[in-house]
Amino acid sequence: MHDLSDPVTLPAGTVLFEEGAIGHCAYLILSGRIAIFRRRDGGEAVLARRGPGEIFGEMAILDALPRSAGARAEADCVLVPVDAAQIRQRLAGADPILRLCLEGLIARLRETLPRLGPASAEGLQAPPSPSARADFDATVASLAQERALRRALARDEFALFLQPIVRLATGRLAGFEALIRWHDPERGLVPPAAFIPAAEANGLILAITAWVIDAIGRIVPRILQAGLRAPASVEPSLFVSFNVTAQDLARADIPGLVDAMLRRTGLAPGALKIEVTESALMQDPAGAAAALARCRAAGLGIAVDDFGTGYSSLSHLSTLPITTLKVDRAFVRAMLAEPRDRRIVQTILRLAEEIGVAAVAEGIEGRAEAEALAAMGCALGQGYHFGRPMPEADALAAAAAWNADAWRVGLSGEADPGRHGFHARA
Ligand code: C2E
Ligand code: MG
Ligand code: MG
Repeated sequence: MHDLSDPVTLPAGTVLFEEGAIGHCAYLILSGRIAIFRRRDGGEAVLARRGPGEIFGEMAILDALPRSAGARAEADCVLVPVDAAQIRQRLAGADPILRLCLEGLIARLRETLPRLGPASAEGLQAPPSPSARADFDATVASLAQERALRRALARDEFALFLQPIVRLATGRLAGFEALIRWHDPERGLVPPAAFIPAAEANGLILAITAWVIDAIGRIVPRILQAGLRAPASVEPSLFVSFNVTAQDLARADIPGLVDAMLRRTGLAPGALKIEVTESALMQDPAGAAAALARCRAAGLGIAVDDFGTGYSSLSHLSTLPITTLKVDRAFVRAMLAEPRDRRIVQTILRLAEEIGVAAVAEGIEGRAEAEALAAMGCALGQGYHFGRPMPEADALAAAAAWNADAWRVGLSGEADPGRHGFHARA
C-alpha cells in the first residue's frame, strides 16, 4: 500500500508538480536539489532553489490555493512528504501569532511572486544553522514516528496488557487495568511512554484510543468469564479500566465510542472504568467534566489516575463524576522511607474517604507497602507485587486461578486499620 508519508526518491529531471496544481503535500528535502520554476511566454524561469534541510511546496498547503510555481528535481532527490492534515494538526497547536505571521508571509510572497526574476544558478541558500538543522531533524523524526504509528494501526500491532487490581483486605481480584503495548516488528515490545506522547502531538491518539475501546470490547467478556471460575477469589463486580487522554476527552466522542462498543458486545457498563490522569483533567476541566459525566451516566466508573501529581483544586474535583482515586506510584514508592510521602498517601486516602470514592494505590512492589496501605485503609492495590502487566492469555489464566488467600494483607499483628480513623472500604 502506498503511504502518502513514505519518503519519495526522485531522479534528476523529474517534475514533481506544475504551477496551478492542487497541493496535497509539502516536502522536506533529505538530499538533492529542487528548482522552483515558472513557465512564461514559452520560456522557463527558475525562481528559487531548495536543498537539504529545507521545505518547499508548503504555500499551497497553508493558504489552500493552487501551486504558485512548479517544482523539479535538479539532482537525484529524497523527499519526505508532509500532508495537509499533518500541517493543520501542527498549526492548530501553534501560537496564534505564529499562525498570523505565516499567513501574512504567504500572502506577501504571493503578491511579489509575479515580479520575481530568475534565480541565479548558485541560488541555493547557505547551509542551515545548527539549530535550524536540529529543528529539521526533529521534524523528520516526528514524521517517521507518525508514519510508523499509522502503520502499527493499519497492521494491528497494538496489544492490551492487563495488570491485576487487588482488594487488600481480602486478597480478592477486583479488576485489571488495561495498558497498551506496541509489538513493533523492528524494536520488539514498545511501552506506552515511548509512543503515547508522540501520538498526542500528532493527533493519532484519537485513533489509538478508538482501537483501545474496540479491544476492550473483545477482551473484557473473556476476562469476566475467566473470573467466574474462581468465585471465592474473584469479586463478582470484576472490572477492567482503560486510559484516555485530555485530547481524547476534548476531541473524540469517547461516550459515543463506548456506547457503540457496549451495544455491539452486550457488556455491562459497570465492568468498565475510564482512567484519566489528574494533569489531563486540568487541561480543559469543563470539557473533561462534560465528557466524563456522559460516561458516568452510561454506568462506567471514572478513575483519576496519578493522583497527587496534577495540582487539581479540590473545588474542581468535587464537580467531576469520580468513582476512584489512584494514588500515584511515586508516593507509594517513597512511602516507607519518607514520612512526608506517607502523610501524602494518608491525606489522599482520607480525601477519597471524604468524597466517597474508592482508592487504589499504584506501584505496590512489596508486601510491606501492601500491608502499610491496608493498615491506612486503602481499599485496592496494584503493582508488581500482585502481578506485572501481562498479555491477555496470562491474565485469563491468572483470573481463573486467582487465590485470594495468597494476597490478603492487613490482618497481621502490625497492621492496625483503626489507627487512622477509617477502615478499608468494603
Ligand atoms: P498508568 O495508567 O499510571 O499505568 C501504570 C503504569 O505503572 C504502567 O506503566 C504499569 O506498568 C506501571 N506499574 C504498575 N505497577 C508497577 C510497579 O509496581 N512498579 C513500577 N515501577 N511500575 C508499575 P505502563 O504500562 O508503561 O504505562 C505507562 C503509562 O502510559 C500509563 O500510566 C498510562 O498513563 C499510559 N498508558 C498506558 N496504556 C495506555 C492507553 O491504552 N492509552 C493511553 N492514552 N495511555 C496509556
Ligand atoms: Mg492508568
Ligand atoms: Mg497511574
